Amino acid sequence: MSSRPIYLDCHATTPIDERVLNAMIPYFTEKFGNPASISHVYGWESEAAVKQSRDILATAINANPEEIVFTSGATEANNLAIKGVAEAYFAKGQHIVTVATEHKAVLEPCEYLESMGFEIMVLPVNQDGLIDLEQLEKTLRHDTILVSVMAANNEIGVLQPLDKIGKMCRQKEIIFHTDAAQAIGKIPLDVEALNIDLMSLTAHKVYGPKGIGALYVRRRNPRIKLAAQQHGGGHERGMRSGTLYTPQIVGFAKAVEIALAEQETENQRLTELRERLWKQLSTLEGIYINGHPQKRLAGNLNISLEGVDGAALSLALQPMVAVSSGSACSSNNVAPSYVLIALGHPEKLAYASVRFGMGRFNTVEEIDKVAEHFITTVKSLRSTSVVIC
Ligand SMILES: *Cc1c(COP(=O)(O)O)cnc(C)c1O
Repeated sequence: MSSRPIYLDCHATTPIDERVLNAMIPYFTEKFGNPASISHVYGWESEAAVKQSRDILATAINANPEEIVFTSGATEANNLAIKGVAEAYFAKGQHIVTVATEHKAVLEPCEYLESMGFEIMVLPVNQDGLIDLEQLEKTLRHDTILVSVMAANNEIGVLQPLDKIGKMCRQKEIIFHTDAAQAIGKIPLDVEALNIDLMSLTAHKVYGPKGIGALYVRRRNPRIKLAAQQHGGGHERGMRSGTLYTPQIVGFAKAVEIALAEQETENQRLTELRERLWKQLSTLEGIYINGHPQKRLAGNLNISLEGVDGAALSLALQPMVAVSSGSACSSNNVAPSYVLIALGHPEKLAYASVRFGMGRFNTVEEIDKVAEHFITTVKSLRSTSVVIC
């Protein structure tokens, strides 16, 4: 009916769930007060909404409300965590460990710190996208102040073993940060059970609004110190100044609350959709899954395809399906993703790659339509186009 392409790019962002939007609306209009205004009802009602939202988010990750620091999203939370720890623990050490497949919002702050004199160790990953725990252990030193490993990868959906990393870091008294932008609401995240000290969150990957996220900052056993990266009125216990964005905060909490309530059934449904898609796509020759086949987000399927020009494929898919795609070998010179490079299949880097990100509003009918169109497109491209490499 609609001429708009079917949306399968849920790792980039998701639409706001209407239940979330409805919870937000009053806070744009009649309940517009500044939650920091303590002398009138406008301030009180906003403050109460922020408090309730903070409680919901804290409960969702088994934290205390005072441990939630609202930010503009996961990019800011990552920056605050990494630079904030680097500055606060500078005297203890300047060695930081992260992973090659992290989001740029982790890798770039680390590179910045490297330019400031910190020593950054970027761990490789195995062919399935998982880190090698023994290698991580060997990398840790007496002057390592921070380990930053993501919960779920935004390209290949791979889930890192947070429990084992957390345990190792706690034993060695090293701060453990995880970027959980793709994980919140999709897999259980318990900061106590997983020994997480800092955790970055965002709302817009889980059917909440853009421009809001949070950093979980552990307050006890041990208490984590952070140097503020934005100074001002001293909001968020001095760690992040700026007037709190009440409607976004209310939407963030509502989005997480819904995702948790539906997590189990939704994961089952998405796994079925993914398996249904793969069952059809795998009838093609020369198609491979990127990342661990099971240890991944339910809604993620990332594939490489041989003998197809990446740019031509992307162009042919665009009218029908919104996905993220790339390739090294392409007339348009689309660079291969650094995440796929890190998996270390040099032969596959010439292949076209496609990330399917399925979500709450995708249906079986859509998946079947996409699979059929995809197969026809690939067959036709293979029969007509000359692949250069
Ligand atoms: C989307 C994403 C980010 C950035 O989050 P924003 O809220 O958009 O700043 C960081 N890390 C990962 C893993 C992501 O998927």
